[in-house]
Amino acid sequence: MSYDSESPTPPRRRLRGNLVIVTAALAPAALAGWLVWQAMGGSGGHDDKPPKVLPLPSAPAARPSGNGGARPPAATATATPSPSASASAATQSARPTGPLAGRVVVIDPGHNPSNFQHTAEINRQVDIGTNKKECDTTGTDTGDGYTEAAFTLDVSHRLRALLEKQGATVTYTQDADRPFGPCVDERAAIGNRARADAVVSVHADGSAQGNHGFHVILPALVNAGKANTAPIVGPSRELGVRIAGKFVHATGMPPSNYVGDGTGLDLRKDLGGLNLSTVPKVFIECGNMRDSGDAALLTSADWRQRAAQGIADGIGDFLRK
Ligand code: ZN
Repeated sequence: MSYDSESPTPPRRRLRGNLVIVTAALAPAALAGWLVWQAMGGSGGHDDKPPKVLPLPSAPAARPSGNGGARPPAATATATPSPSASASAATQSARPTGPLAGRVVVIDPGHNPSNFQHTAEINRQVDIGTNKKECDTTGTDTGDGYTEAAFTLDVSHRLRALLEKQGATVTYTQDADRPFGPCVDERAAIGNRARADAVVSVHADGSAQGNHGFHVILPALVNAGKANTAPIVGPSRELGVRIAGKFVHATGMPPSNYVGDGTGLDLRKDLGGLNLSTVPKVFIECGNMRDSGDAALLTSADWRQRAAQGIADGIGDFLRK
């Protein structure tokens, strides 16, 4: 927040620098993945533009989607009303319109601003299929004290606005409207109960200074106890690849230099929120809060809008496929 004004220019400088890094990152092992992203991101014909907050197309009818006019199943079109929808009663009277009308997206803002006051509750062990793990964690922060929980909520609010503009029905797992949590198993259950077409868990990482860039975490194949990710591994990967491609395009943030071998993608089987999901779901670590360069971006409201735009574009791409 106040940190935004402390470093007004570094974010922009850093963005330009990142363009060079991104170009360099296209070269070696990650090339295959990047070509996929380029192909997906480039279908709209705006690859050559510099990263910026792209205006949402109000009616992307010309998109190369063979079944663009297809309606979602009735079950999701009449899905349970979002608790967050109370904020906009006006939208309840009129059916949402737009390219994502009838689509249900669950946004899972990582952690909870009050988790730190409830250590006993969040340390309770919950079953994540493969093993037991803490209910939730406090998350990280920048060196200057901007918390991950504040970051995830801010990006999530921006993301909801962008998705709702396109007609999507959006539900949160938490909006700082509860004393702690929810626990990771409940976070998964909220997406499952909503029969979400896509779920994204928003995070920022807490790695060492010098480690920078974003990565998207995909569910690995897990079949243990209550967890069976077999049905969601494929669609979640597709969702994650599209989000990664659009995220780099919108933000200029390079893929992580410490996870995923330059692809910006990571596969994990130790996250309850993914293990227990029965609907397509990914996590995104938007950057590393403990790296001063990334922190300068993460603390910028302008950059967070770009981040939300990138995630929204990726989700939109996935849902319109
Ligand atoms: Zn986190």
